[in-house]
Amino acid sequence: MTNTTLAVREIEARIKARERISSVDAAELWKAATDEELRRLAGIVRKRYHDETRATYLVMRIINYTNVCVAQCDYCAFYVLPNQEGGYVLTRDDVFAKIDELLEIGGDLVAFNGGFNPKLPLHFYCDLFRAVRDRYGERVEFYALTIAEFLYLADRAGLSYHQAAEELKRAGVHWITGGGSEILTEDFRRRHAKFKYTVAEYFEAQRAIVETGLRTTATMVIGFDETFEERLEHLERTRDFQDRTNGLFSFLCWTYKPYGTAFGGREISPREYHRHIALSRIFLDNVRHIRTSVLTMNRDAFQALDFGADDFDLPIEDEVTQKAGATIDLDIEGLLAVPRSLGYRVDYRRSERPELVRGIACPPRGSEWPSTT
Ligand code: SF4
Repeated sequence: MTNTTLAVREIEARIKARERISSVDAAELWKAATDEELRRLAGIVRKRYHDETRATYLVMRIINYTNVCVAQCDYCAFYVLPNQEGGYVLTRDDVFAKIDELLEIGGDLVAFNGGFNPKLPLHFYCDLFRAVRDRYGERVEFYALTIAEFLYLADRAGLSYHQAAEELKRAGVHWITGGGSEILTEDFRRRHAKFKYTVAEYFEAQRAIVETGLRTTATMVIGFDETFEERLEHLERTRDFQDRTNGLFSFLCWTYKPYGTAFGGREISPREYHRHIALSRIFLDNVRHIRTSVLTMNRDAFQALDFGADDFDLPIEDEVTQKAGATIDLDIEGLLAVPRSLGYRVDYRRSERPELVRGIACPPRGSEWPSTT
């Protein structure tokens, strides 16, 4: 037996004893654990929360209400600057038509996502969200903004994060997701998205969102030029935030699409993605749901269920990632056949359920979830 194998075995023993792994352990696993070992260890943590043979999913669409943006992230192929040709803002009727189409095919979740458009103030969004809630009630749930957009709008409105979150809540908003996080290190922000936000601002805003009683999630995008240490720092910050707030419903990791972006680059392999999902499942022992990205990994996303993921979206549209090379497969039954062939029962997860209520997003460490997942 080599020392490396011994180290992995020692970490495995700690995971089995429900001890939390350290960042040093995570680095050791990334370096030394085989795919099979990572799969097995992630399965141990997954089993604390979920039936081993069950996965859940949603059918959803991302509505990109405007592509005008001043943030100029170098990994983005979607935006145009103000007054440039090709800029658009969707009308209310456009938005309703997209939601109606989603409902017709059985979906019930919309995620609004767009650029930092200086012509659209916070009250534009509040009016839009109020109109969606009035028209659809609880038939459709919506992710109103990402934290990145929330930060921009609160700043432009001259409101504190708490005040902005209250305004949105009064407009019928339930969710502001952790989207737009990419890699949460200050150095990464400076390299690629220096006009967007600082990491400190990101978490300050997310804390205000949780304290206001809105629901939120954690996200991550890998495959730029980030180092392993930066990936780990992102996971550390996420775990710390969850320890302090218990406000994160889920962690979703997707992969960078490099086509048509200023930064360019190459896509990472499915194997690297699966290993990262496994490491995330093991490290984020306080986050209940680990979500795999069909949007960017297509059918390769489903194998991540064997590496600790338990939930996924089937998106029917997202212009941001499609512009950068993502392809959307609309064959929902064909897609669902893949996890079934891997041995999973797949159940639709309605986007509004009591388990989503703030404060019980995750059980306290060391306690068990009720078995009704
Ligand atoms: S990623 Fe978002 S914030 Fe950045 S340039 Fe694109 S639309 Fe703007």
